[in-house]
Order: sequence, then C-alpha cells, then structure tokens
Amino acid sequence: MEALEITTSSMENKWRRIQSRLRAELGDDVFTSWFGRVELEAYDGRVVHVSVPTKFLRNWLQSHYSDKLLACCGSELGGVNKLEFRVRQPHLAPIEKLNAVPAPRDTGQSRPQQGFPTAAIPLRVLSTAHRDGRTGLDGFEGSPLDPRYTFQSFVVGTPNRLAHAAAMQIAGSAGEQPLRYNPLYIHARVGMGKTHLLHAIAWDVKQRNPNAKVLYLTAERFMYSFAEALQTRDAPAFKEKLRTIDLLLIDDMEFLQGRTFQQEFCHTLNSMIDGGKQVVVAADCAPLLLESFDARMRSRLSGGLVAELAALDYELRLKILERRAAEKMAASPGFEVPAEVLAYLARQLTENGRELEGAITRLHAAYQLTGEPATCDAAETTIGDLIRSKEPKRVKIDDILRIVAKHYGVQRGDLLSSRRNQSIVRPRQIGMYLAKTLTSRSLPEIGRRFGGRDHTTVLHAIRKIESLKQQDGVLKEEIESLSRMLKDGSI
Ligand code: ADP
Ligand code: MG
Repeated sequence: MEALEITTSSMENKWRRIQSRLRAELGDDVFTSWFGRVELEAYDGRVVHVSVPTKFLRNWLQSHYSDKLLACCGSELGGVNKLEFRVRQPHLAPIEKLNAVPAPRDTGQSRPQQGFPTAAIPLRVLSTAHRDGRTGLDGFEGSPLDPRYTFQSFVVGTPNRLAHAAAMQIAGSAGEQPLRYNPLYIHARVGMGKTHLLHAIAWDVKQRNPNAKVLYLTAERFMYSFAEALQTRDAPAFKEKLRTIDLLLIDDMEFLQGRTFQQEFCHTLNSMIDGGKQVVVAADCAPLLLESFDARMRSRLSGGLVAELAALDYELRLKILERRAAEKMAASPGFEVPAEVLAYLARQLTENGRELEGAITRLHAAYQLTGEPATCDAAETTIGDLIRSKEPKRVKIDDILRIVAKHYGVQRGDLLSSRRNQSIVRPRQIGMYLAKTLTSRSLPEIGRRFGGRDHTTVLHAIRKIESLKQQDGVLKEEIESLSRMLKDGSI
C-alpha cells in the first residue's frame, strides 16, 4: 500500500512537472484551455496513456498538440515513444453499449450472413442521415442539430416544467422586444434533456422564421472556431459575425476553459444582451458554481432566468419511455412494448434519459433482428448487463461540497477558503476524504477543487479522517451516512 502510494505520488510529481513544462512552453492561457482537463492515466515504460473528457478535445489535442505533449513527456519519462488518448466519460459507456446491436440469437430462422450488419444500419443511419440541421451564417457553421430533439418529442413533467416553459416562451417570441429572459441559463446533470431543449428552441425558431440568424454551438466548438480565427488572423471578422446573430445557443458551457476564450465569450454575451439579442446557455451546474469563470461573467449568466432540470422522476421516465416506444411502434408495425415492460424499465433505469432511449432502441433492434417480442423477460435480458454492470452512481465533487457544507452548517466558500477554524477544517477534511473514496479524482485534482490546495494536504486530510474513524464511532457513522446519500443520489 505504502509502496503503491510512493509510486503513485512520484508519478504524480512527474506529471506535474510535465504540466509545468507545457504551461511554460505554451503559456497559461493555451495550457488552461486545452490541457486543464487532461489527466495522466498510466505509463508502461513506453506508452503514456492520458484521458480527456470529450472526443472533441481528444481530436483537437491529437491534431494540434501531440508532438509537444510527447516531447514534454519524453523529457520527464525516459523511454516514452507514444501517446494514447482515451475519452473518459463513464456516464456515456452504458449508452454506447445500448446502441450497440445485440448479438443475434438463434431463432432457428436462417439469415444471410450480411443480414445483421444491414439490419443494424438503419439504427445509426436514422440518427445521422437526417442531420441536415445545421445552424450558422456566412460559412460559420454551428454544431449539428439532432432532428429528433424537438418540442414535440420533449416530455414535460414536474422536474422540467419551468425550463420547458421558458424555452417555449423564448422560441415563441423570438424577434420580439423586449426579451423577457436573457440569458436563459439551463442547468442539470448529464442526460436530463438540456441539449434536447436547446435543439428544440433552435428548430422551432428556424421553422417559424427561416431567415432568423440562429447559431447553436457547443462551448468547445466556440473555442475551436475562435482559435481557428486567431490562427488565420480572422478574429475581428469572427467577432463581427457573432454579433449579428439573433439567437445564440451555447451548450456544455462548463467546458469553456481558458481566460482568452472566456473573455471573448463574455464580450459576445454582453454585446448580444445589450443589443437585445437572445442568448441561451446550458451547463452542468448553476452559474455561480462555474468555478473557473470570473465573478462578472457568473453574475451576467445569472442575470436572466436560471432554470434547473431536476432528476427525472418515475412518472417522467415512464412518459419518456412511452413516447420513445410509440415512435418505434409507429415506424415498425408489429413491434409492441407492453405497459408492464415500460414500467419495469422506468423502475430499473433511473440514471438518465439516454438509458431510456437506449433501452427502447435495443428492444427494437432485438425485434428487428430476431423477431423477438418485447416482453419483460426480453427486457430483463436486454438491459440486464446494464443494470448488473451499472457503475455506482458517479459522485461529483460539487455534490460533496454541497452536502458537506449543508450537513455541517458551513458555507461552501468556507470549505474552499484558507480559514483554519476547527469547525471548518474538519468538514473540509471529511469532504476531501469523501472525494478520494467516492470519485476517481487524483489527489492533486481534489486539492485543486478544494480551494487550490496541495495534494499533500489532501493526503494528510485522508489519513486524519481514516484514523479518526477508527477512534470515533459517531464520526464513522456520520461519514458512512454522507457517503450513502451521495452514492444513492438522495441529496
Ligand atoms: P443532456 O444534454 O442534459 O445531457 P440530452 O438532452 O442529451 O441531455 O438528453 C439525453 C436523452 O434523454 C436524449 O435522448 C433526450 O431526448 C432524452 N430526454 C431527456 N429528457 C427528456 C424529456 N423530458 N423528454 C424526452 N426525452 C428526454
Ligand atoms: Mg448535452
């Protein structure tokens, strides 16, 4: 255990030195923008494995920075000759599995060999072939719009009523002045329908007024477009174009990293809002929790309407499943999903909307490929691996900070501050301990999230809590109950 820790921490030190080299070579801003979320996963003496949160970032780093990263790794780690990038997004894993076509079962029917791949194609083609929904203007392309994500297909329930009403209001009054909610800021954890709502607004406005200048961009695409404009010295034209847009929708705002990009976005936001243009933003947390953003930006983002999409409750999950099943049944006569199967799925698949969609896709694929009806048994087999292999709920450091602050009656800011009163130090240490035991974050990462502390402070906190737990049964119980609440998501 000790040996492992020494190895891990010497690796962490090396990685920190690699990061410092990169920062020195590329400058603070470029480093934060592109390398802030790169994590070292493993090094086997030859290949350095790093992970990043999105495919976009992986592609960008591979095409722009892999030589530089390899060179910096080479100067700290002898013998390295290759980099491997992995996209870490545990919450997406089940979806990829779900969208994969199930292994054909032996139904006694003979099928031509190539039958399976051909039958499998429509599932994927359906979702990409109709993706003609692009927003943008004058050659400046937005991110694609998914044709399935419209208001018609969005199911309204208690968890999303406010955000949906605001989205409808914005779409319905596009072009009218004054704007009521500007910016509209929608936040929720992954899979709750943020992207769906943003696309729905864009589709609706485009349909009502084909000439409206609508631009839908993920924050990363915004960074990419801006970086390209800087490279080709086209930044003024890029800014000009942005400012002529009537409706700007920015998705995954939390990924907008780096001072230059944030400042640029802030200017765009200010000039759009001041010019009476509508802005809609989606992110995974409330604006005030966007840690890397400066205070003015956070307050500007909170200045319109902030609406949260709460966790999908049973009723909403069931309705979404019904809607998805109805779509498939309409497209595929003979395919039926009985109410009890939908109820079973709604009970089992509690995590997010993607699982719900994926489960119906799977049942439908099984029916198309093997003729198997969607019974409860089939549903159980179809999603069984998912439920069994379901990773424990992914706990976020934000949740830990929130629940620890609430439980101990301190402010979140206190936990992040340098205050040393015992009434704050202990909850802070408990928070770090929970972060280490419930998330896969590294010690330096935890230190950073707890107010920019050193990883040795985090290690000290973990050891302190481990030893206190052994002496103090009440504390032990308390930590276990916090841990359970975080894991169940009952917070
Ligand atoms: P997010 O952007 O919040 O991560 P998405 O918008 O990508 O989530 O939604 C994930 C999946 O769940 C999509 O297939 C989406 O259509 C579905 N979904 C989520 N909420 C709803 C809803 N209220 N009605 C219909 N489908 C929904
Ligand atoms: Mg999304």
